Amino acid sequence: MDYIYLDNAATTPILPEVADIMDDVNRTIFGNPSSIHRFGNIARDKIEESRLSISKALKVKPSELFFTSGATESITTILYGAIRGLGVQRIVTSRLEHPATLQTIEKIGRLGLAEVVYLEFDKQGHINLQHLSGTLSNGTKTLVCLMHANNELGNLLPMKKVSEICSEHGALFLSDTVQSIGKFDNDFSEYPDFAIGSAHKFHGPKGVGFMVVKSQYKIDALMVGGAQERNMRAGTENLASIVGMAKALDFALKNVEDSMGYISELKNLTIERVKNLIPDAVFNGDACGIATILNIGLPKATHNKMVVFNLDSKGFAVSGGSACSSGVLNISHVIKALGLAETIIPIRVSFSRFNNAEEVELFVNMLKNY
Ligand code: PLP
Repeated sequence: MDYIYLDNAATTPILPEVADIMDDVNRTIFGNPSSIHRFGNIARDKIEESRLSISKALKVKPSELFFTSGATESITTILYGAIRGLGVQRIVTSRLEHPATLQTIEKIGRLGLAEVVYLEFDKQGHINLQHLSGTLSNGTKTLVCLMHANNELGNLLPMKKVSEICSEHGALFLSDTVQSIGKFDNDFSEYPDFAIGSAHKFHGPKGVGFMVVKSQYKIDALMVGGAQERNMRAGTENLASIVGMAKALDFALKNVEDSMGYISELKNLTIERVKNLIPDAVFNGDACGIATILNIGLPKATHNKMVVFNLDSKGFAVSGGSACSSGVLNISHVIKALGLAETIIPIRVSFSRFNNAEEVELFVNMLKNY
């Protein structure tokens, strides 16, 4: 049985050229980038080449890009670092964020390190920007933390507008850009103040990522004990993965128009086929969201509670929510927050350039049985 992978928001298959370059680095460059000899210099040069390539792609200065183990570490570093280094007293976010953000912020609130405010949103999951403006108007030093592309619904945040509201009120803006890196022209030259990425979401390796911290902000490091990443992230660098991440982003952005055009067609085809074959299904979130993500709601019934498991046994990999909750029967916190948990079973389908129309046909034909 051919297995069909439609869970690319959880992770993407690594590109063969990325795996090759990593293999080459692992076999040929073993020096510690911090060592002051030839072996160290060769390794350091590779890291700085990768930094140059990624920072150019994101239109930020090389000194504004820091390598980490992935998005979770980047989010955690920025949130704690902004409280300790920049005097942030309040974090404004929404209950639709990824658990990596939500649980870190909840913990910060529990520890009494900052006040936490959750923004209102509508039934499609659009953040209420008037609520944002109103909340920021009292002058408390605030970090606004809102994701660009929602990993469950695909909704896109109006980044420019949010950034303008933040600037108007002197608030800082951190955006979880994990799901949109490599899928747009990621121009961070003007905003947000802080952005993040995880390589495995754009056909790179797992366990490596980055954070963008604009040069005017000196945040406090989370990991100490080494001068790596200009004292912002101690620990010997994951050399091969950093090189692989640069290669993956370069590939993604060079092909972004073709890939995203193709993926949009797949998403539209899925919508059309679902409408035809499963008329009582609904679509959760914004219909104009990112092309890679589609959230389908099946009417809840006793027979379809295990649909993600059942689809797996039939050869289809999809998700009921974010990566960490797939595999667990808990209903997605996003679907709960939207008030849909009692009525629908959410199926998140997420595409990459490696999917095709035939897979979509097979998938929808299977889904109609549930
Ligand atoms: N933020 C978003 C929007 C995500 O989709 C994910 C991964 O599912 C993360 C953060 C966490 O990424 P990582 O597990 O690579 O640290």
